[in-house]
Amino acid sequence: MSMGGKLFQSLGIDTYKLRDNSPKNANQTKDNDWPRIESKVTNCTKCSLHKGRNKTVFGDGNRDADWFFVGEAPGKDEDLQGKPFVGRAGRLLTEVIFSIGLSREEVFIANILKCRPPDNRDPKTQEVEQCFAYLERQIDLVKPKIIIAVGRIAAQSLLGSDLPMGKLRGRIHGFGSSKIPTLVIYHPAYLLRSPSQKHKVWEDLQIANDFLKK
Ligand code: SF4
Repeated sequence: MSMGGKLFQSLGIDTYKLRDNSPKNANQTKDNDWPRIESKVTNCTKCSLHKGRNKTVFGDGNRDADWFFVGEAPGKDEDLQGKPFVGRAGRLLTEVIFSIGLSREEVFIANILKCRPPDNRDPKTQEVEQCFAYLERQIDLVKPKIIIAVGRIAAQSLLGSDLPMGKLRGRIHGFGSSKIPTLVIYHPAYLLRSPSQKHKVWEDLQIANDFLKK
C-alpha cells in the first residue's frame, strides 16, 4: 500500500478507486476552463435528457470553496430556474449549510446530472456515465477540502458503491485518485418527509467539521 494509502487507513478513511480524477492540464487555467465547461453543459446532447429540459443546471456557488455539495439531479423547480437545490428541499439544504457556519455563497453546489429526469425518476446508469465527466471537472477545478454527497444517488454515483445510505453515512470516504474526503448525508427531500432523521445530518456534518479541523 502507498504512503498515502497507509495515512488514510490510519485515519480510518475508506478509499475508492472506481472513479479517477484526471490531473489538471497545465495549459488550461481555472478561469479559462469554467466558461468552456459551462458552455459544453448548456449545449450538451450526450443523453436523451436534453430533449425534455427547460434549462441545464450547471451548479453554482464559490468556485474556490472548501465544501462541495453534490446532489442527484435537477427537479421541477431547478429545471425551470437553472439553479441547484431551490424550492423546499433547497431551503432546507441552505439551513444545513448555515448550521456549519457557512452561507450558500461560500460553498459550491452541483448535481450528478445536469438535466432533469422525467417525473423526477432516478437517473439511469448510462445517464450518470455520460454526465459524470462534467462534475469531475468541476470538482477538479474547485479543489474542495471536502465533498458532501447529498442523498443515496449522489453518494452511490460518487463512490461507485451500491451500499445503502445507512452504511455509507457516518464516516469519511475518499473520492477519486486524489482521495478527496467525502461525507454522505441524507437528502433534504427525505428529511422533509422524515424530520425525525434531521439530527443524523447534524451528527454527520460534525464528523466533517472534526475531520477538517484535524
Ligand atoms: S444530463 Fe448531462 S449528459 Fe445528459 S444531456 Fe444533460 S448535460 Fe448532457
